[in-house]
Amino acid sequence: MKRIVILGSTGSIGESTLDIVRKFPDRFSVLGLTAATNDQKLEHQIRLFRPKVVALSSECAARQLRRRLGKHPVDILSGEQGLCAVASLPESDLVISAIVGGAGLLPTMAALRAGRAVALANKEPMVMAGELMQREAHRQGIRIFPIDSEHSAIFQSMEGHRLCDVRRIVLTASGGPFWDWTREELAHATPDQALQHPNWKMGAKITVDSATLMNKGLEVIEARWLFDMTPDRIDMVIHRESIIHSLVEYCDGSVIAQLGHPDMRTPIAYALNYPERVPLLPQPLDLGKIGTLTFSPPDFERFPCPKLAYAALEHGGALAPALNAANEVAVQAFLERGLPFLHIPTVIEDTMQSCTHRSPTSIEEALAVDRWARTHASAIAKRYLT
Ligand code: NAD
Ligand code: MG
Repeated sequence: MKRIVILGSTGSIGESTLDIVRKFPDRFSVLGLTAATNDQKLEHQIRLFRPKVVALSSECAARQLRRRLGKHPVDILSGEQGLCAVASLPESDLVISAIVGGAGLLPTMAALRAGRAVALANKEPMVMAGELMQREAHRQGIRIFPIDSEHSAIFQSMEGHRLCDVRRIVLTASGGPFWDWTREELAHATPDQALQHPNWKMGAKITVDSATLMNKGLEVIEARWLFDMTPDRIDMVIHRESIIHSLVEYCDGSVIAQLGHPDMRTPIAYALNYPERVPLLPQPLDLGKIGTLTFSPPDFERFPCPKLAYAALEHGGALAPALNAANEVAVQAFLERGLPFLHIPTVIEDTMQSCTHRSPTSIEEALAVDRWARTHASAIAKRYLT
């Protein structure tokens, strides 16, 4: 029986993880859960999965939850400290990191520092401080298992092979809802349109990241640190059908890929059960019925965000955490404050160009860059609000 902790249990990945737990009650027990503010959904999860400890970021939401749960046997913590305490519970066997954004950095680091194995969906901390996170994992002798479907595909396609034989990895990208839009059309793209992803049902932030292709940029940086792969060996290709989840090319010309229905429960279950596989999706992958799998190169003119991510890796320093923070601010401004879609990359690029911080040597320094970049990006975004 694996005792698991889920950081971000009320989100899309959190709920898919709990769906797997429900399907395999003799494999998993839930030890801890965390959420930002949604105390009602968390209450429902507590009654269903009976965790020992939970935490909400919001103190106010935690108070309401305590009131409603009365004598129910669960400790309810709050704030960043509470989240980090749940992340580092010594009895846990695996921590599923599924908070969205840089807010997941401290709790995920807390899990690593406590020597807990981590299954990582929350890619932004890897972008902000991937090297520091991997260093901590090595120090603790633990593994970070990828949940992101592309990285799970690469992980699976590398199983049984030598890292030194890998020539390059290729991340597939669906292209998002705007793949065939002109720049003129993109100029008027609305949040509602951006939130219509053709293949995946996900949280709002990553859905907008998919529309700008920044999701693929973040994933290049994530792959850089997860697989210790230099950026010149990480490529991307547009694959509209989201059936091939990524590919690994070896020095002899062989290319190994992982295929499957676009359903996050497959990569989540692989990370939860590694190295075992469990019976999950009953419907076969009927390639005859799917018929055609298509591929095309990404268009960095209409979608410049991945180029910014490559630049952040190439120039190093503090550019990756600056890019991440500026992207979070710009996406939120697009969703809530009328920042035009095409100005999301403008805000990020301006923030990167203004960033003079040195390469962070600690989590505290990475967080200082994050704070600076958020302030800077907010000021830039203001100029373009409609
Ligand atoms: P989501 O918005 O659906 O859920 C986010 C979760 O994080 C919620 O439980 C929320 O309460 C919590 N949260 C949000 N802000 C927080 C804060 N400031 N402090 C503490 N907790 C906070 O997001 P999601 O789509 O599940 O994505 C989660 C992460 O997984 C993201 O980093 C995303 O890029 C990555 N990911 C998601 C998918 C997917 O299919 N959804 C696929 C690959 C990777
Ligand atoms: Mg992905």
